[in-house]
Amino acid sequence: MLDLLIHNASLPDGRKHMSVAVRAGRIVEVAAGLQAPAHETVDAQGQLLSPPFIDAHFHMDATLSYGLPRVNASGTLLEGIAVWGELKPMLTQEALMERALAYCDWAVAKGLLAIRTHVDVCDPRLLAVDALLEVKRRVAPYIDLQLVAFPQDGVLRGKTGPQEHMDTLKRALDRGVDVVGGIPHFERTMADGALSVKLLCELAAERGLRVDMHCDESDDPHSRHVETLAFETQRLGLQGRVTGSHLSSMHSMDNYYVSKLIPLMAEADLQVVSNPLINITLQGRHDSYPKRRGMTRVPELLAAGVNVAFGQDCTMDPWYSLGSGDMLEVAHMGLHVAQMTSQAAIGQCFEAVTRNAARVLGLQDYGLAAGCHADFVLLQAADPMEALRLRATRLRVYRRGKLLAQTPAATSQLHLAGRPYSTACRAESIPRF
Ligand SMILES: [Zn+2]
Repeated sequence: MLDLLIHNASLPDGRKHMSVAVRAGRIVEVAAGLQAPAHETVDAQGQLLSPPFIDAHFHMDATLSYGLPRVNASGTLLEGIAVWGELKPMLTQEALMERALAYCDWAVAKGLLAIRTHVDVCDPRLLAVDALLEVKRRVAPYIDLQLVAFPQDGVLRGKTGPQEHMDTLKRALDRGVDVVGGIPHFERTMADGALSVKLLCELAAERGLRVDMHCDESDDPHSRHVETLAFETQRLGLQGRVTGSHLSSMHSMDNYYVSKLIPLMAEADLQVVSNPLINITLQGRHDSYPKRRGMTRVPELLAAGVNVAFGQDCTMDPWYSLGSGDMLEVAHMGLHVAQMTSQAAIGQCFEAVTRNAARVLGLQDYGLAAGCHADFVLLQAADPMEALRLRATRLRVYRRGKLLAQTPAATSQLHLAGRPYSTACRAESIPRF
C-alpha cells in the first residue's frame, strides 16, 4: 500500500501524464499511468510537479528586520550596512529567532524547502549563530537549513584583529555552523583578500567543510578574488565543494581576462550563486548612463559547464525592502537581467532555483526519481516557462510525502458581458487559430 499517489502530473523535463508513487517518505516509482492502492491519491490535472525550490544564498539573521531601527531611505548598499550596524547591538536572540521562523513559514508556503543562509560571525557573543542553530533545529522537520560562517566585516579587517576574528569564526564552526564563508573584496587590500581566501579554504579543507564566499561583490573590473578562489579550490582538492557567491565584478571585467577565468572556474568545479534581485539593485550605483547590471555572466558560465544557482539573498532587511521567499520571482529577475529568453535558457533559469541550487548545497536524494525524498511542489502551471511567467501559485507543498502547505488556485472572476466568467491568465485558455 502506498502512502501517496499523484497522477496526471507534468514534470519539469517535459514528461506528461506522469504518476509519482510515495512510500515511507520516499518516491518509489515515477511512471505514466500508475495504478496502485494508496492512502491518499491526488489528481494533478496536468499541472507541473517540481522538486522543491532551493535558495542557495540568504541572510536569515537580518531578514524581516525592515524598518529596524530605521528604514534604509536611499536603498543603497552603504546605507544598508550603516542600518545593519545600528541594529546589531540591539539584536536579541528571541527577536532574531521569531523573524527567522516567520520567514521559514513564508518559505514553506512558497515551496522553498532548503535554504543556505550566511550568518554574521563578527560578534564575539555569536548571538546570531546560536539563534540560527536553534532555528535550524526547530525547522528541521520541514526545511533543510544550512549555515555559513560569514565574517561580514572581513576576517582580516575587522576591528578586533585577525586572530580574534578567525577564532570567533572557528568557534561558530565548533558550535555546528556547516560552511566556511568569507568576503575577500572587503578586506583592506587585494593581497589581504587573497590571503583571506587561502586561510579560509585551508580551514575548510582541514575540517572537511564546504566553502561559500561573498566574492567580488563589487563593480571593480580589476578584482581578482574569483581567480584566487578557483586556484585554492584546485590546490586543496576541494573541487565541487566551493561556491563563489555574487561574483558581480565578472560583469565589468575585460572579456579577454574572462576568457581565461571561466575555464579555470570550470576546471575547479567552482559552484556559482548569483543573486539577481539584489545585484540589479545594489550594483552599478556609481554609474551614470549606461548603468551596468552587476550580475555575473550566467549564460557564459553555464555554457562552460559551471553549475550556477540563483539566490534570494535578502528579504525585507536593511539592504532590500522587498522579497517574499519566492524563488520563481528570483529566477524571473535572473532570466530578464541575463537575457536568458531562449527556450533552453528559460529551463536553465528554473533549474537555477531547483536542481542547480540543490547541487550547491550538496543535498542528497533530491529530485523526482525513484529513491529520492518525496519532496515536491504542485504548481498552477503547465510547465517551467508558465511557472516563471506567472510566478505560479504553489497549490500543494509536500515534504517526505506529507502535505506542508496548500494555496487555493489564483483565478479572477470576471464580470464582462459576453466574456468568460473567470481567467487565470493560463496559456491553455488562449485561442489557437
Ligand atoms: Zn549575501
